Amino acid sequence: MNEALLATDCDANAPIPVTVERGQRAVFCGLTSIVWLHRKIQDAFFLVVGSRTCAHLLQSAAGVMIFAEPRFATAILQDRDLAGMADCHEELDRVVNELLARRPEIKTLFLVGSCPSEVIKLDLQNAAERLQQQNSGRVRMVAYSGSGIETTFTQGEDKCLAELVRAAPHAGPEAPALVVAGTLADIVEDQFRRLFEEMGIGPVAFLPATSGAGMPTVGPGTKVLLAQPFLTETVQALEGRGASLLAAPFPLGAEGTELWLKAAARAFGVNDALFEATVAAPRSRARQAVGYQREKLRGKRIAFLPDSQLELPLARFLSRECAMDVESITTPFHDPNLMASESNLLGEHPDLIEGGDLETRLERVRSLRPDLTVCGMGIANPLEAEGLRSKWSIELIFSPIQGFDQAGDLAALFSRPLAREAQLEF
Ligand code: SF4
Repeated sequence: MNEALLATDCDANAPIPVTVERGQRAVFCGLTSIVWLHRKIQDAFFLVVGSRTCAHLLQSAAGVMIFAEPRFATAILQDRDLAGMADCHEELDRVVNELLARRPEIKTLFLVGSCPSEVIKLDLQNAAERLQQQNSGRVRMVAYSGSGIETTFTQGEDKCLAELVRAAPHAGPEAPALVVAGTLADIVEDQFRRLFEEMGIGPVAFLPATSGAGMPTVGPGTKVLLAQPFLTETVQALEGRGASLLAAPFPLGAEGTELWLKAAARAFGVNDALFEATVAAPRSRARQAVGYQREKLRGKRIAFLPDSQLELPLARFLSRECAMDVESITTPFHDPNLMASESNLLGEHPDLIEGGDLETRLERVRSLRPDLTVCGMGIANPLEAEGLRSKWSIELIFSPIQGFDQAGDLAALFSRPLAREAQLEF
């Protein structure tokens, strides 16, 4: 890693060139994000209005994690024509009222749309407003879409958070406050909270919060740091309220985390000495932990297939801090605004694709034969069968990977499959 570059400003340069390719894709739908959102927002319930397929997806994706009464379910709609839609609304009201009567602890009820045609015909926003009036003061109703037609698996979180912002109370312009947007593991949230406190930055709120009562207020004084890169619509909703987005890379690795915290420190007038005193020890631990993994990763070749929108920040971390050779990056969507600081650090890349056609991208990976390919679960097995090592990108969503104390673990997620292969070969 080039230490001199660590202090580089992350203001946006000209956008880096990205090749757009359209075609077939293989990505889970936005319903998948319920798996981590329901764990984070602990007084919420996610009611998917969908088909048996949606129910199967949720059960297989999240079923193994159920250890108490679940906080998600699927209201299955049978096929109906438009004339039968009134019955659909009655059916939905009945399911919601039964649920709320049985589960008084639910404070936010998400109605999550899906892609069957009978669900698309149903106006869930209207249904949420009607049910909100019926349950005023008892529960907050929020509707959003997790449909596979509109969303990939991380965009489900974006749709959910954008609706939470639209429903958030207005904050006055006077006092600046920091909102950290994007789901983080509780342990990571606590670490960031402590660092902000030590620098005197506050008040700080996290979106989503662990409870409905903790959701941030938003207004012209709100400054936003993104903890996740897939929040295009959420940022638009925040900016629509007058909030301003702080330019920063994502808090992955020692470098990303330092620059991310630095963006907040600048916005809140923290002096350099206090910033340095706050980050010096955890940054040193992070560099040391990454350095240990770097010796295992140096010179290894990696490719990214489109899945989570984490592709660019990970490529930056792995190339700059872990000395890996990033051969190819395909990301499902590239938002030049949110990626400006990442692009600035990564620089131009000869093989950076937005979208991607599945067959074309797989052929590319076969021709490159990288040491590791980061991809969706559905693609990993066929690649492994061809002798190509893979890493599920969804694992990077479920694992705590942000912040100084997780930097070494993040690098280890990539070195471990390579070490396993070396042992097998031996
Ligand atoms: Fe399948 Fe659509 Fe349901 Fe997702 S929302 S599980 S893509 S039917």
